[in-house]
Amino acid sequence: MQEPQKRSCDGCTECCFASTVVALSKPVFTQCKHCTSGERCDIYSTKPLECTEYTCGWLDGEGTEADKPNRIHLVHNQMFDLMLGMPWLLIESQAGALATEPARRIIESKLRQHDCVITVSRILTFALYIPQGRSVPDDHLAQLRQRSWTIHDENAAMVAAE
Ligand code: SF4
Ligand code: SF4
Repeated sequence: MQEPQKRSCDGCTECCFASTVVALSKPVFTQCKHCTSGERCDIYSTKPLECTEYTCGWLDGEGTEADKPNRIHLVHNQMFDLMLGMPWLLIESQAGALATEPARRIIESKLRQHDCVITVSRILTFALYIPQGRSVPDDHLAQLRQRSWTIHDENAAMVAAE
């Protein structure tokens, strides 16, 4: 049997732009100073541990080949959150990417797997998508709303439709 082709970051540095790197004091949505070509890491063998340990969902086999982050300008990975379990974080690296079909497809596939999804736009607006059957404490939702998060709760949508 033919081995499936392993995915590689080659040519993509989308997470180097869209992520915070504490060790480099690099804020979110800034080009890393070690990514001068925009295509690869200049310090690959000595990059900080948090860069070494980072793997996006696409590199881990999520989505199709066409969903490579530098093509769809969306970076997603699973994270730990005390209130939400293991939600997916979906960040747009280019304004408008969260409104595209790939973003909708990624969000829907995670909701079908009963995972929450947090989206972050280029202008730092946040949204939380809650799948059917998952409950998030009301006081936590109230806190997020207070911080201007948009909440999309499939359970609330079901109640409204009844
Ligand atoms: S976004 Fe994914 S594919 Fe692109 S450089 Fe980062 S880990 Fe690699
Ligand atoms: S150090 Fe390298 S891997 Fe880490 S953010 Fe910068 S360019 Fe990317």
